[in-house]
Amino acid sequence: MSQADNHGFNTRAIHAGQEPEKRTGAVVPPVYQTSTFAQDGIGKLRDGYEYGRGTNPTRDSLQEQIAALEGGKHGLSFSSGLAAEDALIRGLLKPGDHIVLGNDAYGGTHRLIDQVLAAWGVTNATADMADDASVDAAIAKGRTRMIWVETPSNPMMKITDIAALAAKAKSIGAWLVVDNTFASPYLQTPLALGADVVVHSTTKYIGGHSDVVGGALVMNDDEIAQKVGFIQFAVGAVSAPMDAWLTTRGLKTLGVRMDRHSANAQAIAEWLLQQDAVENVYYPGLPDHPGHELAKRQMKSFGGMISVTFKAGEPAARKVAESTSVFTLAESLGGIESLMNYPAEMTHASVKGTELAVPENLVRLSVGIEDVEDQIADLDQAIAKL
Ligand code: PLP
Repeated sequence: MSQADNHGFNTRAIHAGQEPEKRTGAVVPPVYQTSTFAQDGIGKLRDGYEYGRGTNPTRDSLQEQIAALEGGKHGLSFSSGLAAEDALIRGLLKPGDHIVLGNDAYGGTHRLIDQVLAAWGVTNATADMADDASVDAAIAKGRTRMIWVETPSNPMMKITDIAALAAKAKSIGAWLVVDNTFASPYLQTPLALGADVVVHSTTKYIGGHSDVVGGALVMNDDEIAQKVGFIQFAVGAVSAPMDAWLTTRGLKTLGVRMDRHSANAQAIAEWLLQQDAVENVYYPGLPDHPGHELAKRQMKSFGGMISVTFKAGEPAARKVAESTSVFTLAESLGGIESLMNYPAEMTHASVKGTELAVPENLVRLSVGIEDVEDQIADLDQAIAKL
């Protein structure tokens, strides 16, 4: 099935890049667990396959599948989300260039840009991406070549208007990069709204089962794909065949999983709002969330991520984080099992003490697809301990 195929999302998820294997007809394409490929004479390659850092059929199959779901022409699969981000930035930018980055971006993205790529000569400024004036103030005239946004953002769940930001990026000659990890292509397709590149930590909803670390980029532009593809090959942070295969398997069920993540999260967010101990619930599916109307236009539903703050401050957040059992205290998100995170010390520890620091009375929930009654009962007993 080709990327341009106009079947529905779930049909593309199951069939794009997944043709039965040619020789045996195996319905599930095998894991090509090989580092190299036999040549039928010097330089006479079979189907273009030469060496595993360059190309591998299992990785190709994932790249085609993910491109088809994001509605993009090119997909590139990496060993982690951060490896994908690094290849993208080094592929497109040069020393002296400038990035405007969301002020509540994933801590590791900020660390990569601010601590690793800064030494390479790429500078950055952070902005509240949901606030036009803040973005304008962060732009360095003539030097900003990339605007980087997460929507919903991590962990404050802010919603940014992708189409408006794409127009702004275009007007200053910059690329718009959207980290689509929280929404996944089932809920939102940024390329259709004008973004130049979509980034994923496929470790999260795309893999979906907390059993593989990976990253991906999707884009339409041939030149961007060629430049970033060169870095992927030259630097070599590619996904391994088994990791690519696991990610492909997870991706086939993305649609049904996301429907359930969203339904459970909506019910939990509404329940949390009614709890006396709770200060604020950050979930775009709640009507009084500042991004609710925009999210309704831009997303199919509101996803499985919720952040919540507690009136009794840091000790209460820590107590809840350490008192659940259906929700496992662990980094990461987007798997079928519910996870509890205390960002100030866990996912966002690298931005502690900076303007990107996360409130210390906040916990982040990755709402899994267990029975929602069990999820709520688990949170209820944890909050009752306060
Ligand atoms: N982007 C977001 C929104 C993330 O949450 C993460 C990881 O948590 C990353 C990127 C980085 O991905 P990885 O951990 O696969 O390198």
